[in-house]
Amino acid sequence: MTINKKINIAIDGFSSCGKGTLAKQLAKSLHYLFIDTGAMYRAVTLSLIENQINIDEIQSIERLLPSLDISFVNKPEINSYKTTLNGRDVEEDIRSMEVSNLVSPVSKISAVRAFLVDQQRKLGLSKGVVMDGRDIGTVVFPDAELKIFMTAKPEIRAQRRLDELKRNGDELVTFDEVLLNLNSRDFQDSSRSNSPLKPAIDAKIIDNSFLTRDQQFHMALEWALEKIN
Ligand code: C5P
Repeated sequence: MTINKKINIAIDGFSSCGKGTLAKQLAKSLHYLFIDTGAMYRAVTLSLIENQINIDEIQSIERLLPSLDISFVNKPEINSYKTTLNGRDVEEDIRSMEVSNLVSPVSKISAVRAFLVDQQRKLGLSKGVVMDGRDIGTVVFPDAELKIFMTAKPEIRAQRRLDELKRNGDELVTFDEVLLNLNSRDFQDSSRSNSPLKPAIDAKIIDNSFLTRDQQFHMALEWALEKIN
């Protein structure tokens, strides 16, 4: 495969649509950097919980943010993607239901968004990035060469997320709890005034309710190659 130029790929969509899975597949095959911006909002949320800072304590949040170093240790060759917070591996902790239930209110806070969007834009400066989130095609990289917006039926997404949580050892979580969390986050993310979740006008829409991972990957890879070549 001859690759002529690097592009940025923005992948947005509802919760647990498999955005990360698709983004990782694309990044691995194009030798691009994969950035999971949801993990960044989750890491800030974890830090607020650990520091016992309430979401309405804006001054304390503003003081905390500059002390947070959120990084990624990505080893695509062994399918290993870890989020670190001040050097500590927090990949498991940021996926807990406790964090999932608080992350949408945290991500409404303007100071949090400004802090993270600034870092995300810097990561994309030299192109060659696949970034997934809620506002990547609309706010972070409105000039991204390829924008994808993903959706799927809520029940199908909840079942996939439940399977993932169980695989990771969470035996107590129920389908209803996961479905409620997804619906509640989707509602909060879509209805907030700052950077709401919505497709960019030039986004390509993937509803993967009945698509296999391979089908959606080949579709997206073709779109990417059209832009690159
Ligand atoms: O992608 P993930 O489901 O891990 O994201 C967790 C939460 O982080 C979302 O529900 C949303 O509230 C927030 N988020 C956001 N903007 C992004 C990525 C995530 O507001 N770009």
